[in-house]
Amino acid sequence: MNPLIGISAGREIGNEQFSKINVPEHYVKAILNAGGTPIIFPPGLKSHQVKTLIKKIDGVLITGGGDIDPQHYQGHPHPKISGVDPQRDELEINLVLAADLAKKPCLGICRGHQIINVAFGGSLYTDIPSQLPQASRHDWYPYIARDYTPHSITIDPHAKLKDYLGGSEVSVNSLHHQSIKDLAPKLVVTALAPDGVIESVEKPDHPFLIGVQWHPEWMVGSPAMKNLFGCFVETCL
Ligand code: MN
Repeated sequence: MNPLIGISAGREIGNEQFSKINVPEHYVKAILNAGGTPIIFPPGLKSHQVKTLIKKIDGVLITGGGDIDPQHYQGHPHPKISGVDPQRDELEINLVLAADLAKKPCLGICRGHQIINVAFGGSLYTDIPSQLPQASRHDWYPYIARDYTPHSITIDPHAKLKDYLGGSEVSVNSLHHQSIKDLAPKLVVTALAPDGVIESVEKPDHPFLIGVQWHPEWMVGSPAMKNLFGCFVETCL
């Protein structure tokens, strides 16, 4: 059996008359390579539709993308916030909460990791360079190879993530300018960058509800990241 994995999509808005639903293919390939059957979930789905869909699928992948509207975490507008899409925020927050209630596996990547924290009541640094000046650089984009691994992460020895990645320290790519500020009460931090930036969270009372701040789907040459997707899809079975 190939588990059905719902993948959240974003939108290329540009021209209101010709907006497009958009998912970077690396996410789709990562799920296919791990033995899952990907299904794209577009922004615009309402809460009741998400509740219906969650019963029909086996797991949820929340993808990376633009910034979350800071009103979801009592944040303030900031000139570096970009790519806000209220319908995508709504879709992904509803998906995380539905996956939690249904105990269906949920993997959040980059923005998806931040959405998990926001969905459960946590907050974000809206721009790391402005608000955490002592942090090292995390926004290694654009015009830089997306599998470039500028920093390591140290993983909690008790985290499920440690088993999935097969070690307590791994090098990761870093394509984000925001990060978790206040951790949601129901989550635990499971990996930190050397500067203290939160790079992974888990929900301990859930079989697989994990956020990762890096982009494993671009680290296609990494056995650890391949195993992370493999373990995600296997848990969905
Ligand atoms: Mn990082």
